[in-house]
Amino acid sequence: MTVHIHPSVDSGVRKGTGSFAGGTLVCKCKDRPVKVQITGDVAHNHACGCTKCWKPEGATFSVVAVVPRDSVKVVENGDKLKIVDPSAAIQRHACSVCGTHMYGRIENKSHPFYGLDFIHPELFVETGSAAPGFAAFVSSVIESGVNPADMAGIRARLKELGLEPYDCLSPALMDAIATHVAKSKAKAA
Ligand SMILES: [Zn+2]
Ligand SMILES: [Zn+2]
Repeated sequence: MTVHIHPSVDSGVRKGTGSFAGGTLVCKCKDRPVKVQITGDVAHNHACGCTKCWKPEGATFSVVAVVPRDSVKVVENGDKLKIVDPSAAIQRHACSVCGTHMYGRIENKSHPFYGLDFIHPELFVETGSAAPGFAAFVSSVIESGVNPADMAGIRARLKELGLEPYDCLSPALMDAIATHVAKSKAKAA
């Protein structure tokens, strides 16, 4: 069985240059594509199995990373952007024509990840941004229709690609969330 994870990693994870200065994310529209300019490299790039992240046609996982919100700038055809679910913690700004998510933003200032926007590095016109380093919410792909019997093969393939599979976020990010919660509790006490 061939296990498909995501087109950008299926033939191997391409390393970042380590000096990516940023670039332009472009949606899939042939006509008037939405363009979003990103300054600097991405962080915490990973494959995500959740049902909320945008994935290209046929992909089992999304590939998603974060950048500081100040480094995200809509430069062309921003009138096509629409928030997918205004009530969600992450407000995903998607192209209303092709459906591509251009950036996800957290407006709740007490959220652990406030200040970071979620983007999909595969939409960069440029190559060389930091590579995905792990896989998050792996078990959640079952919610998108993956046969539970295929999970062992999927986890093995992720490991083979060097994308350690986790069923929540990576330990570093789980620690960051817990630290934020501990700090806000200390403040409230
Ligand atoms: Zn579009
Ligand atoms: Zn996700």
